[in-house]
Amino acid sequence: MIKAIGYATQDATAPLKPIEFDRSEPGPHDVQIDILYCGVCHSDLHQVRNEWHNTVYPCLPGHEIVGRAIKIGQHVTKFKEGDLVGVGCMIDSCQQCEPCHVGEEQYCEGPHGWTATYNGPMKPDGTNTSGGYSNTIVVKESFVLKVPENLETKAIAPLLCAGVTTYSPLRHWQVKAGQRVGVVGLGGLGDMAVKLATAMGARVVVFTTSPQKEADIHRLGAEDVVLSTDTEAMQKYASSFDFILNTIPTKHDINPYVQLLKRDATLVLVGALEPLEPLDNSQVAFHRRRVAGSLIGSIAETQEVLDFCAEHGIVADVEMIPIQQINEAYERMLKGDVKYRFVIDMASLR
Ligand code: NDP
Ligand code: ZN
Repeated sequence: MIKAIGYATQDATAPLKPIEFDRSEPGPHDVQIDILYCGVCHSDLHQVRNEWHNTVYPCLPGHEIVGRAIKIGQHVTKFKEGDLVGVGCMIDSCQQCEPCHVGEEQYCEGPHGWTATYNGPMKPDGTNTSGGYSNTIVVKESFVLKVPENLETKAIAPLLCAGVTTYSPLRHWQVKAGQRVGVVGLGGLGDMAVKLATAMGARVVVFTTSPQKEADIHRLGAEDVVLSTDTEAMQKYASSFDFILNTIPTKHDINPYVQLLKRDATLVLVGALEPLEPLDNSQVAFHRRRVAGSLIGSIAETQEVLDFCAEHGIVADVEMIPIQQINEAYERMLKGDVKYRFVIDMASLR
């Protein structure tokens, strides 16, 4: 066993605290990673506080992991010691079902679904998985990503979840150069969505509740900013969007965004994974609009977004924190007081 250290919480109301725990030694197909950085996703907060009603404690979050390969199983072919590598939201899936066969592991239909990097029962013994708020992790090579060396390492971590979660729907719905794309909510996911859609040639408009973010939103590449509480400004954009990506993390009314779509255009919800306010189907039916959801992205898409960002020089806007500030960081994230992703410098753990 490997003696690992990290930060975990014991129940939904307790703060994260230091913990010592065991990880299995790497098997023949596994890579052991020395974790350098881990992004702080709003999903971590949802999970830690049991807001999705499925958290198993102790809960050790973190699924935006970048580090160096330090031990390589004998049958591993993709990686060697010293490689810069990443781990996102998944560390395994059934590999038998149709989605796994077509390389969409995030929609795995196996008996246990895909195995989440944390809070996902570890097969076969059902032990809870522990994520990236730790010094080291062991993952099978097919779920490990190659991280480009030409980008700022600490600012790459958010690509592993925020990046792929926004990249996957932009690709799936075939967003093209010249199209008008809306991004709703400028947090960790929103930051990536603006940069990725802009790099794909789209004309991006951000819908925000925070007027103080306006200057930044232009700096990130957006063409316009709309305060979502300003009904007149919203009305100006009625029926004008080819695609909208909504990252709002809690229950809300999506109808004001639906009416912004052109005929046949799609609003994709990646934020709130919970029941929303009722949808007014007259707005949907009359213009054959679509409302859809999307979950993270596949392993292949995760590699694709890393390579896309390497090519276009894209990284996340990050604020570095020592792990001792994680509880404070959660409170600040809830207030929208982060530009735009906290990343834990794991050197602070040692
Ligand atoms: P952040 O907290 O970083 O950003 C969310 C942003 O949404 C805020 O900055 C704010 O932007 C806006 N916002 C927050 N609360 C409200 C509200 N009540 N009404 C309107 N706007 C609001 O979160 P992340 O970007 O990390 O994650 C966003 C959501 O996506 C989370 O729920 C997360 O769990 C989920 N997620 C889903 C995934 C999937 O696979 N579908 C994968 C990863 C994350 P502004 O100030 O601009 O209004
Ligand atoms: Zn995430």
